[in-house]
Amino acid sequence: MRIYKVGGAVRDRLLGKPVTDIDWVVVGATTEEMLAKGFRPVGVDFPVFLHPKSGEEYALARTERKSGRGYGGFTFHASPEVTLEEDLIRRDLTINAMAEDDQQNLTDPYHGQRDLEARLLRHVSPAFAEDPLRVLRVARFAARYATLGFTVAPETLELMRQLSESNELEALTPERSWKEISRALMEDQPQVFVEVLRACGALKVLMPEVDALFGVPQPPAHHPEIDTGAHTLSVLQQAAIHKQPLTVRWACLLHDLGKGLTPEQEWPRHIAHEFKGLKLIKAVNERFKVPRDCQELALLVGEYHTHGHRAHELKPSTLLELLQSFDVFRRPQRFEEFIAACEMDARGRKGLEEKSYPQADYLRGAATAARNVAVQPLLEQGFKGPELGEAIKRERLKALKTYKEKA
Ligand code: ATP
Ligand code: MG
Repeated sequence: MRIYKVGGAVRDRLLGKPVTDIDWVVVGATTEEMLAKGFRPVGVDFPVFLHPKSGEEYALARTERKSGRGYGGFTFHASPEVTLEEDLIRRDLTINAMAEDDQQNLTDPYHGQRDLEARLLRHVSPAFAEDPLRVLRVARFAARYATLGFTVAPETLELMRQLSESNELEALTPERSWKEISRALMEDQPQVFVEVLRACGALKVLMPEVDALFGVPQPPAHHPEIDTGAHTLSVLQQAAIHKQPLTVRWACLLHDLGKGLTPEQEWPRHIAHEFKGLKLIKAVNERFKVPRDCQELALLVGEYHTHGHRAHELKPSTLLELLQSFDVFRRPQRFEEFIAACEMDARGRKGLEEKSYPQADYLRGAATAARNVAVQPLLEQGFKGPELGEAIKRERLKALKTYKEKA
């Protein structure tokens, strides 16, 4: 049997990037031989094994053929006769279809190295169109390597367009889609992920609510970039520049969905878009079975981001309601993430990226002021049950009043 490093490990070494996980392909072996060497079988769909010591993945070389819709719609063929070249041709991109032996001899039948140099994400063969997940993968790689100057090859974008126009994307499971979306959002340039999906027509299928934001104008006085789609991309970009976590990035992507619902005659104003957008945010959340913390923050940011921007104008009672909506007394971290998302929203405006956002500290200060209300003295005064709750609220309101006056 012959063993080769494949995929991301080869690509990233050639790019001079750190290699985190290594995938291996084994040519000329049977399942029985692998088991005899102590490898542990893990693949349910394919013959994939874990190395007894390193735990890295070793896959038997295989060919694949499409036999139905979606991810399950594949039949594979693994046998000792399958060659390295046959295994590599089923892979998505040429830069992912290189192999390397233990002497670092490169096998590169589909010219991955040439495309690395040309900074091109190019499909290996027409069989690319057999797995719709590749549309998301390519967009994700575009987001990751945009900083290095990579773009999607026009002929690959064309295949992605065909895939998006067929109904293949709808066959993706929520879990597989979310895995790609969440990884893409954590890349260096997550806005490129959205741009590439939009360019091939996949955004319209996967997240029509986001796609609808392009071409929707906002008031130039507040939004010099005008276009709501362009604004959303900038907010996402700011979130990446400021190293925000996934929850914040997801909230950034969805915060303005309501603007896509504004009747044209009301443009460029978007009255109550915060509230109108909630049902759309909920729909996207459910479509991809998004983790609860991301779902919750997206809904809260959608509803309250304008409150964040107007923090200094809010009455003490409204401030208190805001803090209560976030359950800030038990979950201070989530309120921090809300503040971060509001700040990214403000910075995601053309020419205003570096403008300070004093609302952030003001909101933090308000949360602290309300939190500092001591309960013990109220207990000592004999307050109990619902009356205690009311008394705490009163004291917090007082504290916020004082805070606002001093600020
Ligand atoms: P990462 O750095 O994100 O791990 P990677 O290229 O190693 O990138 P993996 O998902 O680990 O990506 O997959 C390993 C390799 O398997 C890829 O480089 C590619 O050759 C192949 N591959 C994975 N998923 C697909 C797919 N859906 N279609 C075609 N080839 C795929
Ligand atoms: Mg990998």
